[in-house]
Amino acid sequence: MVITEHPSTQAIPLVCDSPHSGTHYPEDFKHAVDFSDLRKCEDTHVEKLWAAVPSVGGTLIHALFPRSYTDTNRTEFDIDVSMIEGEWPGRAEPSKRCLELGNGLFFSKTTTLQHIYDRKLSISELQNRIHTCWRPYRQALAQALDNASQQHGKRWHLNLHSMPSNAYERLGLATGKVLADVVLGDLNGRACSADFTAFVAQGFTQRGYSVAINDPYVGMDLLVAHGAPEKQHHSLQIELNRRLYLNEQTREPLPQFGKVQADISSLLTDLARYVGQQL
Ligand SMILES: [Zn+2]
Repeated sequence: MVITEHPSTQAIPLVCDSPHSGTHYPEDFKHAVDFSDLRKCEDTHVEKLWAAVPSVGGTLIHALFPRSYTDTNRTEFDIDVSMIEGEWPGRAEPSKRCLELGNGLFFSKTTTLQHIYDRKLSISELQNRIHTCWRPYRQALAQALDNASQQHGKRWHLNLHSMPSNAYERLGLATGKVLADVVLGDLNGRACSADFTAFVAQGFTQRGYSVAINDPYVGMDLLVAHGAPEKQHHSLQIELNRRLYLNEQTREPLPQFGKVQADISSLLTDLARYVGQQL
């Protein structure tokens, strides 16, 4: 359920992960919502846009299961127990986003706020999701990051996503602002050095993309778990605007997909050079 693509050339301490691009819907999902609504939760094709990571010496990890089934960018305890039949035997510390939007570890609503289930979920099926999806993904990422920092003393982590073109509206932020092509999130400076954020921002702007920083997304649990710039553990979230590469209704790539992918591949070459210079 988790794929790790290892470096195909000399390894550098660059680890990239795409937690939300999985499209393999498990048989026991048993959702009631319309499938096309459910698919709007996906960061479809993100792992393909970043497919060049191993060729510059980085490691690329991505989930096969969909984010609406189990979201690895949440804590293991971000659970709304009202979804569950019976008494949840573990810890449950639901976030505001989990309770208000239904977007915790197990989504109860789609990102367009449609109810996903017409049933309560069993304790065993949710424990199974933790064992087969959440933990293997988190372990694969933690191991790749640990290996990188043990070998090089420093590491750089890109947490890769895409965002709906109407992100401001979906978040209830009807600001009249135009959503940027690329949103970089560094937990407002707590997840990586300012230099790293600036380098990646410049890489996109040089290639013609508009960039916003921490607006409207600052990063979620994977950045909280792994970003520690004081230890030279740099984590940066990258959200690509889906209008750049995706038909948001059909989930098919747009004709310009190849151009965006090529721009990212060339940015990765620059990034590999940047990492090399920091060692
Ligand atoms: Zn995402």
